[in-house]
Amino acid sequence: MPPTLAFVAPWESSRAVANLPRTPRDDVIVLLVESIEKGAQLPWHRQKLVLVLSAMRHFAEALRAAGYRVDHRVAPSYREAIRDAAREHGATRVVATEPREWFLKDEFDVLRGWLAEDGVAFVERPDRGFVVPRARFETWAAGRKELRMEWFYRELRREHDVLLDAAGKPEGGAWNFDHDNRQPWPKGRPAPPRLRAEPDAVTRKVMAQVAEWRGLFGRVESFALPVTRAAAKAWLEQFVVERLAEFGPYEDAMLAGEPDLLHSGLSSLLNVGLLAPMEVIRRAEQAYREGTAPIASVEGFVRQILGWREYVRGVYWHLMPGLRIANALEAPMGLPQWYWDPDGDGSYDGTAHPACGMRCLADSVRQVRDHGRTHHINRLMIQGNIATLLGVRPEALSRWFWAAFTDAYEWVELPNVAGMATWGDGGVMASKPYVASGQYVKRMSDYCTGCRYDVKQRTGPDACPLNYLYWDFIARHRERFASHPRMAQMIRTLDRMKPEEVAAMRGEAAVFRAAVPIEKA
Ligand code: SF4
Repeated sequence: MPPTLAFVAPWESSRAVANLPRTPRDDVIVLLVESIEKGAQLPWHRQKLVLVLSAMRHFAEALRAAGYRVDHRVAPSYREAIRDAAREHGATRVVATEPREWFLKDEFDVLRGWLAEDGVAFVERPDRGFVVPRARFETWAAGRKELRMEWFYRELRREHDVLLDAAGKPEGGAWNFDHDNRQPWPKGRPAPPRLRAEPDAVTRKVMAQVAEWRGLFGRVESFALPVTRAAAKAWLEQFVVERLAEFGPYEDAMLAGEPDLLHSGLSSLLNVGLLAPMEVIRRAEQAYREGTAPIASVEGFVRQILGWREYVRGVYWHLMPGLRIANALEAPMGLPQWYWDPDGDGSYDGTAHPACGMRCLADSVRQVRDHGRTHHINRLMIQGNIATLLGVRPEALSRWFWAAFTDAYEWVELPNVAGMATWGDGGVMASKPYVASGQYVKRMSDYCTGCRYDVKQRTGPDACPLNYLYWDFIARHRERFASHPRMAQMIRTLDRMKPEEVAAMRGEAAVFRAAVPIEKA
């Protein structure tokens, strides 16, 4: 009987997510591909490549050990690998999960024609890496101008019976506990030790390989993420037992040098397919029902997965391909080179430039450089906020987020950057831009202590750049947001300031912006 070729994408690195028969079959060949074209698409973080490649190599071995027929190859592209493998194995049918990203949709569009010419059927299956199918979001979004996550999330909670009481009402009496989850990290309390999964021989070999590759971002030495299903499950368990209870109150807190604090790092494992989202949600819910974690923490955690993760994937497919060039605020600037090299020592591409003096940005970028991640508030309120205040084009910032984080794929980073962080979509996702002055950073972090700038000052050589950039942003966009209910307060505050102070801040913002070293596109 002619075999079926089952293509498994790099983000389907376990049987919990991949579309494969439950038990090995002689007439099914599993195809895993390391695509040279994909590898060269962006200056990926070295740890991201280690995660993807090591997880894929471990998965190939696990499948072989379980009795599956596996073809694991390096190829110029996914489409060529699938066509060639189908020919070589004499397959009459190719089965693949629906594309998770736009580039793979483009590849599949070409592939479909090639396979048809060869008389090979091409079948797409739903993506098991999400709780709901893509069509579920489209049904919800139809006819809506604004796509607020909160309403989608509540529908999914009801449909999947997540954190509901016997009467079908939300546990704890509310759908949302955000107001309980905004505490800064307690002064003097040391950060918890970071979760670690020790690299085995396979991973160390990939690390050595990747360390040699040129034109990439980030350091590889500290790689300590799980690359197998068993290790990912152990990581989840450790997070739930040791951290989940306190996750909520401190989920927005930032501390210098700490990419995680009480965050789980699970997004990297979910997005590469080592864990399925519903098993993670149910494990957190179990902790609530057993009384080991309070509702505010569990709801805050579940919201990230059943809420944000499902929602941004829906928004991505809903707004693509236009989302790639969305720029509602007409931001003109390229990405500061500080996002690749905060110390200005040329460590990224040999280009030396003045170091980033903003400790909040420099430190949070170092976290990314050294670990391939930092948590959501560093991303949104430091890296996204500063880029938005400066007027960085969403696509330039988006490219960085896509390349630089171990959990980033276009489906997740693009809505977060072009919609949420920079308001590039003009308010489809977020009701207002997520911008803040230095006061927010001071309240939620320890970055301002030891910064060369003074967070209390708005003008002068020592003034915190976030302060004058913030008021310059409000002034630049005052017409656009004049009647916006949530921005009007800031515009009134601006209007009460002395004109000479506003002029001074705007002048300093212009001088600062002109001195920012910009990446070479
Ligand atoms: Fe950032 Fe301003 Fe604080 Fe420095 S003073 S860390 S630039 S917010």
